[in-house]
Amino acid sequence: MSAAEVTFCKVRKAFGNAVAVRELDLAIGAGEFVSLLGPSGCGKTTSLRMLAGLEFPTSGTISIGGRVVNDVAPGKRDVAMVFQSYALYPHMTVGENIAYPLKKQGMARGEREAQVKRIAAMLKLEALLDRKPRQLSGGQQQRVALGRALVRSPKVFLLDEPLSNLDAKLRAHMRAELIELHRQLGRTFVYVTHDQLEAMTMSDRIAVMEGGELRQFAPPREVYDRPANLFVASFIGTPPMNIVHGEFNGRVFRHPAITVPFQVAGAPTRVALGVRPEDVLLGAGPFRATVRVVEPTGHETIVMLEAEGAALTARAPAESHLRPGEIVPFALRADRLHLFDATTELRLE
Ligand code: ATP
Repeated sequence: MSAAEVTFCKVRKAFGNAVAVRELDLAIGAGEFVSLLGPSGCGKTTSLRMLAGLEFPTSGTISIGGRVVNDVAPGKRDVAMVFQSYALYPHMTVGENIAYPLKKQGMARGEREAQVKRIAAMLKLEALLDRKPRQLSGGQQQRVALGRALVRSPKVFLLDEPLSNLDAKLRAHMRAELIELHRQLGRTFVYVTHDQLEAMTMSDRIAVMEGGELRQFAPPREVYDRPANLFVASFIGTPPMNIVHGEFNGRVFRHPAITVPFQVAGAPTRVALGVRPEDVLLGAGPFRATVRVVEPTGHETIVMLEAEGAALTARAPAESHLRPGEIVPFALRADRLHLFDATTELRLE
């Protein structure tokens, strides 16, 4: 068995009058790790549940491995889903929980035990096989839930915020484990999260969703460096990208505090300039701003500024000694600026 590609073609899902997913077109490659990322209510869980067969599309088609699965029962899709709430059977041991899908398939006991051993070794659960779920930590329970999905060796793994119940340290550890698992297994992973760090660190490509619509589908670096629209620009990145509204005459962006030359043909007059906090360079440069708030975080200092009505956030070195009220000169990194049409919100440059 191998990985399978997954395709959403014009998929729409309405619950009564409420549209959860609109005309979703998404082609995920065999063996790819794709995250569906977006704020609460954007339709990512509904998309994943349709892929699992737990919800039916109102219209459009979903294919797995080239086969339309709209009418295929969840158990016949060759997918396995890992839920946020691990959904382990409390009365079964770890070993029995992992073996359960195989038992249901009618696999003989000896073969089942061999499979459970293999999965337990992969997930470092060997020492815990005789315990009950309540005797495990959150991270261990999550590994058992993963094990139960892995044991069936499906072509596609569906993961719905599987790390959200873990503490920050364990989440970081499990992120690394998932990357390694994906590499070892070579299967298709579709991962739902609202955590951009998870999406950025693990994915081959990220599908950014908002209001039931796909806003961008691209590798993490591209989503960060070339956001397709104002939503993606402001959603990805912490602190978020600065957005400064101004006017454009085809050659120069103008705001009372900032002017920047740009080469864009046929651009509109009303535009928004996007600047990441790390691209606001404090200390020297042609522009001036007033320091409003200084937040030392340890390894750097986040500085909030105001320049003729524009609010700006800058990342500064930890040792910078700026004070609120101070006026600082600044420059913008010219090769890292973004320009958007203020009306359509689409990227111009
Ligand atoms: P979250 O991160 O909060 O889980 P999400 O991006 O996964 O959000 P969905 O759960 O897919 O979002 O929900 C998308 C929209 O569809 C929401 O407005 C939600 O209220 C609605 N919705 C989801 N399931 C149902 C349902 N069974 N009945 C009615 N509306 C639903």
